[in-house]
Amino acid sequence: MKLGIGVLLALPLLLSHAVPVATASEDPVLVLQGGKVYASPTAAPIEDAVLVIQDGWIAAVGKRKQLQLPKSARVIDCTGKVIVAGFWNSHVHFESGWADAAHAPAEKIDAHMQEMLTRWGFTTVWDLGSEPNNTLALRRRIEGGEISGPQILMAGDIFPHNGHPVYLPPEMRLPEAASPQEAEQMAQQYLKTGLDGIKLFTGSFMGNKPVVNMDTAIVKAAVDVARAQGKPVFAHPQNWAGVDNALAGGVDVLAHTIPTEGRFTADELARMKQQHTGLIPTLTLWTTVVPDPIVVDKLVQSGVDELKSYFSAGGTILFGTDVGFQSKYDTSQEFEFMGRAMAWRDILASLTTNPAEFFKETAKGRVEKGMKADLVVLDGDPASDVRNFAKVAYTIKGGKIIYSAHDKP
Ligand SMILES: [Zn+2]
Repeated sequence: MKLGIGVLLALPLLLSHAVPVATASEDPVLVLQGGKVYASPTAAPIEDAVLVIQDGWIAAVGKRKQLQLPKSARVIDCTGKVIVAGFWNSHVHFESGWADAAHAPAEKIDAHMQEMLTRWGFTTVWDLGSEPNNTLALRRRIEGGEISGPQILMAGDIFPHNGHPVYLPPEMRLPEAASPQEAEQMAQQYLKTGLDGIKLFTGSFMGNKPVVNMDTAIVKAAVDVARAQGKPVFAHPQNWAGVDNALAGGVDVLAHTIPTEGRFTADELARMKQQHTGLIPTLTLWTTVVPDPIVVDKLVQSGVDELKSYFSAGGTILFGTDVGFQSKYDTSQEFEFMGRAMAWRDILASLTTNPAEFFKETAKGRVEKGMKADLVVLDGDPASDVRNFAKVAYTIKGGKIIYSAHDKP
C-alpha cells in the first residue's frame, strides 16, 4: 500500500530484465502423467492425461494412450491429481517481511515466497503498491533464476491530497496528487521507471473521519497516461463515491469490494458492466480489518453479495487477496467465500483465463499445446470442493517447478 515517488525519481535505469541463467533448450523434457486436466474453465476434463513440457512451453497434452513419450523425459506421476493453468493473484503486496529484497539471503526470500505465494499455486501476481525499488530488486532476483517465484507485475500508488490512509504509518511518505497535472506526472514517472500499471486511491480510509475521495479529473489524468501506454489502472474504492469517481475516470479494475456500503448501486453495476471493469473481491481481507466477529460476518456477507451482484450481471472477476498487506496466506477461506457467489469453474476463470485476457497475456490461462507451461497440480478436485484450489502439489512456472509439496524440485 505504500510508495515513495521521491525514491522512484532518484532511481536510475536499474530495470533491464536479467537474462535467465540457463538457456531453455538445456532443460530436460518434463512429463506430467496420469492426472486429470481441466484445460480451461469451460473444457471437459481429460482423464488419465499426459502433459509434455519442453523449453518452458506445453508441447503436447492429451490422453495417455494417444501420446508417445520422449525417452529422456523426467516423468512426474500425477495419478489422482488435477492439473489446471497457473494461478494469478491480481492483488498482493511485498510489504511485511520483504525488507531489503536486494540483499536478503536467497534461502530466506525463497522460504517466504513459498509461504506467501508459490505454495498456493501463484505463477503471476500484481503487486498493487509496495516500496517499488524493493519489489524491483525482488523481481530481478526471480528473473535471474536465483529465487523461485511468480512473475511479478507492479502498479504504482497515487493517493488523494490529504488522503493518507489511517492504516499506513504516518511517517510513510505517500505520493499525493493535488491536481490533474501532479497525477499525470506521477503516472508518467511510474511507467517510465518500468512499472506495469497505476493504482489510485479513489477513496482513502481515514478512520473516524470521512473518507477522502479523489476527484474524477485527477483519476482521469492518471488513466489517460496509462491508457496511452496500454497499461491498466486499478482503484482502491472504499465507498460509493470512490467507485463512482473511479468509473467516471475510466479505471480498469476495482481492487476491492466495498462492504461498508453493503452493495453496489444499480448505476454502478450497469456502468461496470458497460466499461468491462474487472472486480477483485478480496473477501478474506474483510475478516482482518475489525476484531468483532459479528461485524466481520456482516462485512464478508456484504462482500459476497457485491461479488454475486456483479458476477451474475456478467461482470469480470479477478482473483485477489491483498496478501502481503494482510497476512492470511492460506487461500482456502477466499475460495470458500467466493464459492458462495460463484461455481468452481467461475472461480477457476478468475484465477486463470480472466486475468490472462484482461491483462493481455495471451500465452497464459489455459492448459493447451503452444501455451506457456504455467501450471498448478492439485491434490484434490475443485469440482467437488472449491477449497481444493488451495491444495497444491506442484506449482510450475515456465516449465520449472517453483514449488513442490512432495519432493525437492
Ligand atoms: Zn492492497
